Amino acid sequence: MNEARTILVRYDEIGLKGKNRNVFEQKLLDHIRKALGGQGDWTLRMPRGRILIETNSSQAEGLADKLAYIPGIASYSIGEPVSTDVESMAKSGIETVARRLSGQSSLRFCVRSRRSDKRFHLTSPQIDFEVGSRIMAALSDQGLTVDLHTPEYILEIEVGATATFLYDHRHKGVGGLPVGSSGDVLCLLSGGIDSPVSAYQLIRRGCRVHFLFFDNQPFLGGGGNDKVRRLAKILNRYQYCGVLHIVPFEDIQVTIRDQCQPRNRIVLYRRMMYRIAERLALKNNCLGLVNGESLGQVASQTLENIHAVSQTVSLSVFRPLIGMDKREIVDRSKAIGTYNVSIEAQPDCCSVFMPERPVTRAKVDELERDETRFPMEELIVKALGNIETIEP
Ligand code: ATP
Ligand code: MG
Repeated sequence: MNEARTILVRYDEIGLKGKNRNVFEQKLLDHIRKALGGQGDWTLRMPRGRILIETNSSQAEGLADKLAYIPGIASYSIGEPVSTDVESMAKSGIETVARRLSGQSSLRFCVRSRRSDKRFHLTSPQIDFEVGSRIMAALSDQGLTVDLHTPEYILEIEVGATATFLYDHRHKGVGGLPVGSSGDVLCLLSGGIDSPVSAYQLIRRGCRVHFLFFDNQPFLGGGGNDKVRRLAKILNRYQYCGVLHIVPFEDIQVTIRDQCQPRNRIVLYRRMMYRIAERLALKNNCLGLVNGESLGQVASQTLENIHAVSQTVSLSVFRPLIGMDKREIVDRSKAIGTYNVSIEAQPDCCSVFMPERPVTRAKVDELERDETRFPMEELIVKALGNIETIEP
């Protein structure tokens, strides 16, 4: 039977006041509408600071699953609409709890209600008691007991002015802020585990993240950028329209390899990457660069080397993983769905061009001397002229 369902969407309102809040809500609504698509049978309502999606029992789960990818949503529940009176709440409550109880010999449960409309004649504790005792009367002989402190199962009731909803599960959302509420940034996306996670962290804080990959494919043969395309596509599930810029990097790597001190190579490549990234970012109204560095994780990620790279650009460089351990980053990449692609084998520029003893404490004056040995501006302009931009 196709019954009415209402999906209740919750978002954290901390720090969201006045005009800010309005912008935030509009961005969130825009994203929800886009994510749910035009096809399904649903309507979006926003009575007094609440987001409700009205639909039916055959579509509710499919629609709700899409909410799991939308930043700004703290949690959501699929609710059953009932009339705002104790008998209706209890009747649906008995059916819902009975379904959960079937096949089990016991269940510790409680009812938790809240009133978004305070005019209802009972307080929340009174509603809990009235509905809870009716459910107990119907089901206690099937092993149901009340446990207010450590329940195995919570039946929640939200009592509103126009409608009341029963639900028994809160799905956790992405949290954070709606995409577009913070502006655009450009993430240096390699095919590894770390940078996709760093992109996600900024998406979660309301940025639209665009991607930039330095490709040495012509040197190594195919494979490198297909992986990055797929990673960008996965990350775009959490936002929309992040584009991927692919910059041919082979010329620059070969030049640096042939002209500069081997031990400085990796840092010199990085300095070139950041110079190119900054110009591309400014051209595309991106207000920051993002990377997947974590302090001390590899030789190129010491404080000295990070400094030597950062000081080539004046744009902010965000490193959301800087204080995270590899284990935490891996767990996050599994949770967001990028891990399996990230661990696929990839021809890695650094292993081909890697010197035997890369410098761990690069000296800026030495790097600057190396950089006089090749036509830097010419290489940058050429790379910028050969960028391929795609919608992954
Ligand atoms: P990741 O797992 O993201 O590849 P990593 O641990 O391999 O990172 P590095 O190779 O030192 O670390 O790279 C540090 C950061 O530099 C990456 O997280 C990414 O943001 C950027 N980066 C490195 N190589 C590239 C590339 N070819 N294209 C774009 N960005 C890159
Ligand atoms: Mg890497």
